[in-house]
Amino acid sequence: MTGLSSFRCVACGMSFALAETRLACSSCGGLLDVVSNLRAFGRTGAAWRDLFDRRRAASPSEATRPFETSGVWRFREHVLPDLPEDGIVSKPEGATRLYAGGALGEELSLSRLFVKHEGENPTLSFKDRGMTVGVSWARASGFKTVACASTGDTSAALAAYAAEVPGMRAVVLLPQGKITDEQLGQALASGATTLGLDTDFDGCMRLVAELTAARPVFLLNSKNPVRIEGQKTIAWEAIQDLGWRVPDWIVVPVGNAGNLSAIGKGLREWLDLGVIGKKPRLAGIQASAADPFFQSYRRGFTERVTCVAGDTAASAIRIGAPVSHPKAEREIRFFEGVVESVTEAELLDAFALANRHGLAICPNSAVALAGAAKLRQAGVIREADLVVVVATAHALKFSGTMSAYHRGGGRLANPPRLLPATLDAILAALGEP
Ligand SMILES: *Cc1c(COP(=O)(O)O)cnc(C)c1O
Ligand SMILES: [Zn+2]
Repeated sequence: MTGLSSFRCVACGMSFALAETRLACSSCGGLLDVVSNLRAFGRTGAAWRDLFDRRRAASPSEATRPFETSGVWRFREHVLPDLPEDGIVSKPEGATRLYAGGALGEELSLSRLFVKHEGENPTLSFKDRGMTVGVSWARASGFKTVACASTGDTSAALAAYAAEVPGMRAVVLLPQGKITDEQLGQALASGATTLGLDTDFDGCMRLVAELTAARPVFLLNSKNPVRIEGQKTIAWEAIQDLGWRVPDWIVVPVGNAGNLSAIGKGLREWLDLGVIGKKPRLAGIQASAADPFFQSYRRGFTERVTCVAGDTAASAIRIGAPVSHPKAEREIRFFEGVVESVTEAELLDAFALANRHGLAICPNSAVALAGAAKLRQAGVIREADLVVVVATAHALKFSGTMSAYHRGGGRLANPPRLLPATLDAILAALGEP
């Protein structure tokens, strides 16, 4: 079906045609949402659940269309239905595992903890869910160049998806020295035009906006509402993984605040369609070195705080002026959400703890985990609450932080030892049997 979607300004409500490829309201400059008339399909909530379950059960060897294996396109009708199906660029993405917290949950006194591991996506972060939609839409709209500013994961995903489209160029603007070598390598490996700039993420964001105004370049930061459509599916998939039980809490790390906005939007759509019958609560967590959204929340959102983001191991969320603040604020209000901030020590210990339990999640994901633990300690989250922590990227994009933690003096540090190459030295190092 086509003609189902349009853009609507979050601030003033003005509507625009989807074909305009707009990034902001022409009247007030506000952020845009994609709004889709999903009721036009005439299905009940139960019918949708049944359709999605049938698709999930399909065998990959029989798959001929992206929605048969992708955790984004499984929900095809609810994700930019106006996009022609044969124009979809999919690797496929999503269909990540939902891990039961087990011993990790016990340590944090969260008996029903689950971790949705978005590090299991093709480029090892959830950004792939947005890029499959964004790059597909860019191609369908006739763009030959796509661009983004990035803290490292958006650029990796943009570069990898653009590389699948013949003749498409990816341009990525990166804050010099502020992303990991692994992330930088991903953009280079996929052939993106990679520009390291002597500024921070917020500086790159301003420049990429200027670039896309000056040239026919499709901007694929989360300011672009089309990208958000793909990221909605993280919470949908987690709920389906839980046998359609809605968690009490969904906990998300917050940088530019696009992902929290996406998850909230998707949940509101499913409430409206009757796919789910209950609201979860949302928790957005920031690192204290860069926590403007938390500072705004603490002021009851009477003021939109921005800051110069400080150095943090959670470098993917080192952002001082979250572009999607108004959308994220809307979701926090609607879902009776909370916003919390965690220190470097808290996030690093949570990073080490999760990885010790065999969950290869990154320091940004650990921000959410540490936040869940903090909210548990404060009694905001209860012991028996069903909690889904969204782990946003894979540990191995951040191997420098991993080895620095273990060589340093962290609470769970497990430093390597250098020995002479003799059995005696090994036996002495192991100590008494
Ligand atoms: C992008 C990113 C985030 C933050 O998402 P926003 O939409 O910017 O709030 C968190 N963790 C990782 C690993 C990311 O790449
Ligand atoms: Zn407006």
